[in-house]
Amino acid sequence: MRSAWLFCLILLPSPIWAQRAPSTDAYRQAKRDRVEIPRVLVIGVNGAEWDIIRPLVLRGEMPNLANMMENGVSGKLQTTSEPNCPKVYSSIFTSTPDSENGISGFEVNYVPVRSDFLKGTPFWSVLSDKGITVGMANVPGTFPVRAVNGYMVSGMLTQGKDCNGILCSPKLSEVVNGEPVYPKKMTAELMKNVGDFWIDCSAMPTAEQLAGNEKEVIEKWLDRVSEIRKQQTRLFEYLLEKYPTDFTMFAQSCEDRTGHWLYPIRPNNVGYNPKIHEVRVDAFPNQYRAFDRVLGRILSHFDKSTTVFVISDHGIKPLRDPGPVVSHGSHTHMNPIIAHHDFVDGDDVPGIFVATGPGIRHGVRIMGLQMNVLDIAPTLLSIYRVSIPTQMKGRVLSEIFEHDANAKQQIPKAD
Ligand SMILES: [Zn+2]
Ligand SMILES: [Zn+2]
Repeated sequence: MRSAWLFCLILLPSPIWAQRAPSTDAYRQAKRDRVEIPRVLVIGVNGAEWDIIRPLVLRGEMPNLANMMENGVSGKLQTTSEPNCPKVYSSIFTSTPDSENGISGFEVNYVPVRSDFLKGTPFWSVLSDKGITVGMANVPGTFPVRAVNGYMVSGMLTQGKDCNGILCSPKLSEVVNGEPVYPKKMTAELMKNVGDFWIDCSAMPTAEQLAGNEKEVIEKWLDRVSEIRKQQTRLFEYLLEKYPTDFTMFAQSCEDRTGHWLYPIRPNNVGYNPKIHEVRVDAFPNQYRAFDRVLGRILSHFDKSTTVFVISDHGIKPLRDPGPVVSHGSHTHMNPIIAHHDFVDGDDVPGIFVATGPGIRHGVRIMGLQMNVLDIAPTLLSIYRVSIPTQMKGRVLSEIFEHDANAKQQIPKAD
């Protein structure tokens, strides 16, 4: 399965590879197994919110996530203050706060964020440099794509025709101002085998679009979201089958987008409008039910030797105060937002963290806000036993590992 990536093996720093060039695929695979490169999968669910997810898990309506929680570690993931997707994902990538990585929102100096605005080294570059194969798709803040030892398909903040990158979804064929796929030649292949898919998730309708046509607009928008999820699942499965990598990271964004305007709020909540909020009270929970089915599909491509993280950059909660809310950058003031995550105190909207895999404890729920988004990169690098760059401010989440495995996670910091 991994033979498609064998060309990458020559990059492995191991002396085993340097000394003898493998002659056949089977031989190469055997050698590869011997060096025991861990396999890790990270799934980012934008804005995943325990308040909605926990009842679904308890009712058995998210069986795949429930199974991970039962056989792994789960808890809240502390996020940044005033969290938004580009800001938090940049912190996840580099294990640095936005004051250091330069990305505090969807725009920097009124220009939509691009991947080359990021200061510091993202963990996927560290992994690539060590010869570990990396595959990433639909991860926010990765446009234009940067070279990795594998592939990358960009996600949120991809710019396209009629889309400046901020909370809109260009089709693959409509992308402008940069490359959405690395290596570039893979674009035609994806077009042929996956189709001309939408990147990121649909823009929320404006108050004007909704006025008088609420039901119709809501149903149409949710149909589009379902279609996007279908396309993204097709993309993920194609990449997993065709290009299995040591490290894989996929992300989804429609959960958060739906929550912003269709969170199942009560009449006493700020912004309640029965014409909108009585139409599909199941819309937001349905996003997680649907995500769980995607999770099952993705996990079917991996075995128990894979470490799996399901994480979110932040949660999402109903508004608490009336007044203007600037959520998701500057383009949403016309959207009837009734939930958000830009709380000054990020502890009001923690993300989720669920992990399973070799050496990870079973059935453990970590209480409080011990785990932080800054800790994801150091923890991932420690699994590969790669030195953690001194830039990284987070720590290895040693408490998620069994005692024996825990000892192995003690990787010194180094440049
Ligand atoms: Zn987000
Ligand atoms: Zn959001």
